[in-house]
Amino acid sequence: MSDQPVALITGASSGIGLATARTFLENGVHVVGVARNPAKLDNAAEGLTGLPARFVPVALDVTANDSPARAVAQAIDTFGRLDHLVNNAGIGSPAPVHETDDDTLDQFLNIMLRAPFRLAREALTAFGDTATIVNVSSTYAILGGLRGGAYSAAKAGLNGLTLHMAAQYGAAGIRSNAVAPGVIPTPMTEHRLEAEAFRRMNHDMTPAARWGQVEDVAQAIWFLSSPASGWINGQVLAVDGGWTATKYLSEEALTAPRESTSPDWTHSGRPPKRD
Ligand code: NAP
Repeated sequence: MSDQPVALITGASSGIGLATARTFLENGVHVVGVARNPAKLDNAAEGLTGLPARFVPVALDVTANDSPARAVAQAIDTFGRLDHLVNNAGIGSPAPVHETDDDTLDQFLNIMLRAPFRLAREALTAFGDTATIVNVSSTYAILGGLRGGAYSAAKAGLNGLTLHMAAQYGAAGIRSNAVAPGVIPTPMTEHRLEAEAFRRMNHDMTPAARWGQVEDVAQAIWFLSSPASGWINGQVLAVDGGWTATKYLSEEALTAPRESTSPDWTHSGRPPKRD
């Protein structure tokens, strides 16, 4: 069995998950990194060499029925132990409820609620005496969030799962927490950040002097996984530059001429009424 602890991190090939994998490796934690696309994973693995711990890529879709067993088996077969689970894999670009069809609803719930549930259930069978689970939620599960739809629903479900597991398994040495990032530039958000309205919605309502970075979230996940947070269990930590903490609106937003905002800012996002 490895002397060093081991983490299973989903969505480890990109964005927040990749930064989290790097942070764990830098802190001497081996990482079993899960994502769908093998080429992207291999690319990530190449950039994660020479650190104090090993990155083991596992290409699988977290929604497949056998994925939790395969991912956990990889950790046990390679290192003989599992100490941390980070449920991070996710997709973006949600739509409001009235524009969300059943397939999209199922897809969002499968990736960001059913899969984390099932991965946690499997990890619980492999953890040692102490362990941590960190679920990557979103500010869209704390605030209403325009166009949140299935995404908000899945992430809010994940927050509920986090609280339940904290209560259920805390006495057994397993802590469960969640991070709720605000908008962070990653491949998931880069196309949305091209839209002026989306950029302003985040910039003008965030009382911070800069954009959030993947490392901001990775450090929060690492903290909640490390002994430094040993007395923290069942919390949803917003990592959002203060977006959810306040009704803040920047001077620029308050003084912007109305015509400079996009039509997205009107209250037109409602389906047509029945006759
Ligand atoms: P990203 O850069 O697009 O990375 C997403 C990762 O998830 C990729 O490694 C992707 O790998 C993997 N993935 C997606 N579907 C998968 C599946 N079915 N099975 C296995 N792996 C899958 O996105 P990100 O911005 O870092 O987002 C990471 C998490 O943070 C998500 O849960 C997201 O909801 C949450 N979050 C992000 C933001 C933000 O502003 N970026 C804000 C709040 C919350 P493949 O491409 O190979 O599938």
